[in-house]
Amino acid sequence: QTVDPVDLIEGIANHFDMEFEERGIRFSLLKDVSDGVRIRVDPDRITQVVVNLLGNAIRYTPSGGTVSLRLYDSSTEFCLELADSGPGISAAHLPHVFDRFYRADDDRSRETGGTGLGLAIAKEFVEAHGGRISAESEPGKGSVFKVCLPVVDTAENPGTRSPS
Ligand code: ATP
Ligand code: MG
Repeated sequence: QTVDPVDLIEGIANHFDMEFEERGIRFSLLKDVSDGVRIRVDPDRITQVVVNLLGNAIRYTPSGGTVSLRLYDSSTEFCLELADSGPGISAAHLPHVFDRFYRADDDRSRETGGTGLGLAIAKEFVEAHGGRISAESEPGKGSVFKVCLPVVDTAENPGTRSPS
């Protein structure tokens, strides 16, 4: 099964519009994707990944902050990059955020807390589909999560096309 990742992700992001507004977070979506790009994934599972990343951005970004989602592609990959202006993740915690049940110290006692499974599930799914997921952060400034998945070669979008 192949899906149009831009349609799918834009649809998911639209569902979060109201929540961002209620939380006083400015959300932006930048689409920089070639026509006809498709990825071979179960839409329900990629939805789960995007929902967790957007949910994290909402949960950890204070009111007045910003969250920006950028979609882009290369000849071989479709990527999404989600940047937030939240507290960031310290260098000590960053290598562990994709571990099962891992939550950074400050977040363990949170009333609105989760289970610490979201990113572990996301990583399993993305890697099982030949993709990669990573996190970067500057504590005090924010975090950036990046997911890339292989694109399906089509006549409209051959993997060998030259970059424009
Ligand atoms: P769940 O997703 O299961 O509801 P969770 O959100 O705590 O719970 P993960 O999504 O796996 O779990 O995230 C793991 C930990 O990484 C979080 O508890 C938090 O400490 C840290 N984290 C994740 N995203 C962010 C972010 N955008 N900003 C700051 N810290 C983050
Ligand atoms: Mg989560």
